[in-house]
Amino acid sequence: MNQIETDIIIVGAGASGMMAAHFCAQQGKKVYLLDHNKQVGRKILISGGGKCNFTNLYGSDPKDYYSENKHFVKSALSRYSPWEFINLMIENKVDYEERLHGQLFCTKSAKEINRVLLSQLKNKNIKLLLQTKDLEVEKNDSGFRVYNKELSLCAPKLVIATGGLVLPQIGASDFGHKLAKTFGHKIIPMTPALVPFKISGFSSLSGNAFIAGITCNNHYVAENVLFTHKGLSGPGILKTSLFWNHGDSIEVNWLPSQSFTDLIKNTSGNIQVDTILKKYLPNNFVDLFFERIRLDGKMHIGKLSKIIQMDIEQNLHSMILTPDGTEGFRKAEVTRGGIDTKHVSSKTLESKLCPGLHFIGEVLDVTGQLGGHNFQWCWASAHAVGEHLA
Ligand SMILES: Cc1cc2nc3c(=O)[nH]c(=O)nc-3n(C[C@H](O)[C@H](O)[C@H](O)COP(=O)(O)OP(=O)(O)OC[C@H]3O[C@@H](n4cnc5c(N)ncnc54)[C@H](O)[C@@H]3O)c2cc1C
Repeated sequence: MNQIETDIIIVGAGASGMMAAHFCAQQGKKVYLLDHNKQVGRKILISGGGKCNFTNLYGSDPKDYYSENKHFVKSALSRYSPWEFINLMIENKVDYEERLHGQLFCTKSAKEINRVLLSQLKNKNIKLLLQTKDLEVEKNDSGFRVYNKELSLCAPKLVIATGGLVLPQIGASDFGHKLAKTFGHKIIPMTPALVPFKISGFSSLSGNAFIAGITCNNHYVAENVLFTHKGLSGPGILKTSLFWNHGDSIEVNWLPSQSFTDLIKNTSGNIQVDTILKKYLPNNFVDLFFERIRLDGKMHIGKLSKIIQMDIEQNLHSMILTPDGTEGFRKAEVTRGGIDTKHVSSKTLESKLCPGLHFIGEVLDVTGQLGGHNFQWCWASAHAVGEHLA
């Protein structure tokens, strides 16, 4: 087998790897981009319900990320704003639309993003190799050898863009984490995030959705909550899951906009309590709510004792629920945790333990909140590594 010499090897042709190949090759560096899948960017294609929430118009900053080192993302994000990627979309005639909270989605399909990223790979300095299975990495005096039974590539620089653990069925692997460990990097424990909760007792409400306020570990989110067969989902829950650890409880405010006391003020004493609540919340939710708190919803307002009124108020606005778990890596959007950023340069994304080795995208302990922040991290970290290596 011939040994091929190149300038930069990138493993992983997902969001961050494809962008990094483009940035690295722009100034003439020879890049090999490898992926064990048959197709590039498979996660991009299924992201955002097939429309890819590719960035956030309001920008991404440290508060939009979960990481042991909150400041790590600052440098890369500050050098590649959402507008840089939006301009790339505009130049390539990708139609997009703004949804709630500045989230930008493709109007037609996420395939458009892959089309643009693939067109950037048509650079003569980039060689894309797919189905490169069972890759191994060896460090030597002149850099790195990346090889399998069919291939042997050598380069002084290696970029790992193999992502997190979500959806192994479409290519996710722990390749990057294992490799990082062999060079002495610590791995922050990995758990599924942006993921539905399993909570028993709500399956009869499956399909209902409304805005609720959720508090978990001092983080408050007020957004749509969707009832599922297994528990709770929807943006409010996915966002909350970023801050949740196994065993934690969440506090749910089912009616954040009104207090129960205000609702019953100036109301005729003959009206039933559930009739009032059904004006604001789905009927079947209200029925289940009273069942759960073991109170009679048919009680007339005039007959409510102060204690029962407080009980309803408390459960309506601060119900404590303890999820049994999450729906796991099969249903999550991202992996929380990953390669500890402590030994990675925030400016160049280069390992401080192994010169020449770089990590970008989700493989690192950088997890974005729902809203396009994960892709923005991919674009920005790819840009930072490109600036450094090109
Ligand atoms: C259902 C879903 C919806 C999502 N929606 C959004 C959204 O709308 N907005 C948003 O910002 N984020 C979204 N995300 C998160 C986002 O997709 C990821 O954060 C992002 O794709 C991470 O990019 P990456 O380049 O780090 O890794 P990936 O995109 O996962 O790419 C990693 C690549 O490495 C390859 N690879 C892995 N192991 C090996 C190996 N051993 N050898 C060779 N190649 C390997 C994989 O095949 C893959 O192509 C979503 C995720 C999911 C699962």
